Amino acid sequence: MLTGRERLELSEIAEPVPSGDEVVVRVRAVGICGTDMKIFRGEIPVAYPRVLGHEMVGETLGTSDGVPHAGSRVIVDPSVSCGRCARCIEGRQNLCAAGWLLGRDQDGGLCELVAVPAANVHPLPDAIDDVSAPFVQVLTTCVHGQRLTEIAPGDRVIVVGLGVTGLLHVQLARLRGAGLVVGVTRSAAKLRLAEMLGADVTVPADQGSAFDRVMEVTRGGGDVVIEAAGTVATLALAVRMARPGGRLLAFGTVSEAAGDFPFYDLYFKELVVSAPRAAVPTDFPVAIEAIASGRVRVEQLVSRGADLRTAGDAIGALTMEDLKTIVRV
Ligand SMILES: [Zn+2]
Ligand SMILES: [Zn+2]
Repeated sequence: MLTGRERLELSEIAEPVPSGDEVVVRVRAVGICGTDMKIFRGEIPVAYPRVLGHEMVGETLGTSDGVPHAGSRVIVDPSVSCGRCARCIEGRQNLCAAGWLLGRDQDGGLCELVAVPAANVHPLPDAIDDVSAPFVQVLTTCVHGQRLTEIAPGDRVIVVGLGVTGLLHVQLARLRGAGLVVGVTRSAAKLRLAEMLGADVTVPADQGSAFDRVMEVTRGGGDVVIEAAGTVATLALAVRMARPGGRLLAFGTVSEAAGDFPFYDLYFKELVVSAPRAAVPTDFPVAIEAIASGRVRVEQLVSRGADLRTAGDAIGALTMEDLKTIVRV
């Protein structure tokens, strides 16, 4: 339970009592991402105390017919929506004004038992184990982004930032028929991982020649540039690396309020910009299938393990170099 900035404590809380449209999930594992890190540090404000965790896999309790997917292993969609407003009705539940995110606006899954809306649980096939399952939620956000920015067969796609989501974007772009996938990051280890997972060309970002190298291999810039690092500097680089008339998927969440940005290039190149937020329910079956079939690989993306007792230390020790931390409950 997060009780203040950078204070994560182990507490006893009351067992959840589900309302009529909720199910109780016995949590088995929770993935920790940059959003959790920002909440932990107070960069994304929340009301304290707050139970973190929005990438959760578990098992639904109950055996009665009234409980959907009773006793199944499920992934929880942490994005809760009202189901009645104009955005929900048009299938954009992620934009529901009355919606909230479990683990940020309401208590999440970094605990033993959590009540969640029954409509938010998706059964998992056995092919996805507990350590891989939290990646389903992460992958839904990438699937959602790549739906907003269509990738046409043959497109030259550049992914800037090769953390967990960047490495998932590399694989998804490949699946969508990209003709060339270029990965850009400072980390040598992540460049190697990107090559293993299907990038055609990798370019170290910290070399002065990175921009020239990307222009050379893409012959004038990417048809699609996916920014997956979430800083003003990398978003600026993504704009510069797009070809005129190209598409920019501003995927990383930028929490900086200011910085140098090539606004004129955005206009001059007539870029189509998409800034996806979370995912919608229909992204879940796509992500589940992609991981279950092995077409998107996630086992290489785990860099740390923890349990409920060590979760606070694990989150406190996270750096930008880390990939996914999985907390076993
Ligand atoms: Zn996350
Ligand atoms: Zn709504």
